[in-house]
Amino acid sequence: MSYLENVLTNLKNKNSNEPEFLQAAQEVLDSLKQVIEKHTEYEKAGLLERLTEPERLISFRVSWVDDNGNVQVNRGYRVQFNGCIGPYKGGLRFHPSVNQSIMKFLGFEQVFKNALTGLPIGGAKGGSDFDPKGKSDNEIMRFCQSFMNELYRHIGQDVDVPAGDIGVGAREIGYLFGQYRKIRNAYEAGVLTGKGLEYGGSLARKEATGYGLVYFMREMLKNDGMDLKDKVVTISGSGNVAIYACEKAQEYGAKVVAMSDSNGCIYDADGIKLDVVKQIKEVERGRIKDYADRVKGAVYYQSVNGSHPIWSIKADIALPCATQNELNLEEAKELVKNGIVAVGEGANMPTTLDAVHYLQANGVLLAPAKAANAGGVATSALEMSQNSMRLSWTFEEVDKKLDGIMTNIFKSCKNAAEEYGLGKNYVAGANIAAFDKISKAMIAQGII
Ligand code: NDP
Repeated sequence: MSYLENVLTNLKNKNSNEPEFLQAAQEVLDSLKQVIEKHTEYEKAGLLERLTEPERLISFRVSWVDDNGNVQVNRGYRVQFNGCIGPYKGGLRFHPSVNQSIMKFLGFEQVFKNALTGLPIGGAKGGSDFDPKGKSDNEIMRFCQSFMNELYRHIGQDVDVPAGDIGVGAREIGYLFGQYRKIRNAYEAGVLTGKGLEYGGSLARKEATGYGLVYFMREMLKNDGMDLKDKVVTISGSGNVAIYACEKAQEYGAKVVAMSDSNGCIYDADGIKLDVVKQIKEVERGRIKDYADRVKGAVYYQSVNGSHPIWSIKADIALPCATQNELNLEEAKELVKNGIVAVGEGANMPTTLDAVHYLQANGVLLAPAKAANAGGVATSALEMSQNSMRLSWTFEEVDKKLDGIMTNIFKSCKNAAEEYGLGKNYVAGANIAAFDKISKAMIAQGII
């Protein structure tokens, strides 16, 4: 058995109840085969064993009192996966599905993503099985305060810098930051990113993940002599990533015809009116279904038993921007049948492994999450820089840096894929390019 197969087998035995983590690890390890064969010194350094074991995994109780006076108890997590190239960095997710497997998969992916940005940030992830849906503003605040009462001892601007993710936006970051500041009695602005502009946030952070995804897509299409103009696009989700991916795609002349949430999707043949989506999702925190009630000619398709009707809609480009494993093999077949040209992963690991293989085998250009959605964390790192300098850059300055970073990430993925004769397999390219940097840093720092 080769070193790589051995590591994978042990990993499966040790983490058999963590399917999402195993899926993420398997995808990376599979694509490193040629690299590992070339560098026999990695085995001696136990590199893959160390790379797949988090440096630290913290789980804690979060108790809070709801508006009816009842005590509620949730579970909080922080997985500090790998800090070899900078302070741990990665978002917080508040969603009932959160568990150790999902935290570890996200933390593992984050290590690679952060390395690809070229910025000095290690990888982490955190969150809770708390469900923000239907909670009052006061309940959200009390939960965030209780969460920070424990998290504060594990984070710091040079230690670990959380940000938002599913269910954690500007409101939650505000409450978390307020509680951290109160406990620490110091203004350490760089301890969290995604902050409001009034208290240390960066312009263009809100837009960064979605815009960055489209910048990456632009580069990937350009490499094949194509562009976004007049392309028909479907975007799953209608949260932070989806909304700003839609905005940038429309700016480039693409026609976005569908968006979704966990209940279903809307189809608007004339093109999505993004101001209506923003009003429903960012202001009213409502359901995407409301769009069809407000916009003449728009149709709503209900999701049945977790299905994703959005992937049956004919399009040139699909941007899954909701959650993990939201695009499976059957849905990939549907996309190919309908003539899809490119898929850009805005969400983390939205495509199942077999669907990834199917899309690639059928010549679909695939922009992998850890490269294509790295614009969010890259801009978070720019927020940290501004906090350290106690200066703020303009929207244009940040956006220009973001564009440059995404263009470079595409180049790194392309070059790494080409170096190993993998053609346009940017999934492997992203893993190899990131691994190159992480492995060098880990080896330089000795066995720790
Ligand atoms: P939001 O909470 O803002 O939005 C999430 C969207 O996805 C909502 O429309 C939500 O619908 C939908 N969704 C969530 N869970 C499911 C599900 N199980 N099935 C179908 N739809 C679902 O999150 P973000 O936009 O911030 O994050 C989306 C994805 O992008 C995640 O995978 C995240 O990890 C990734 N990401 C985010 C970054 C960021 O900067 N925010 C950076 C890099 C990656 P509903 O309201 O019905 O739950």
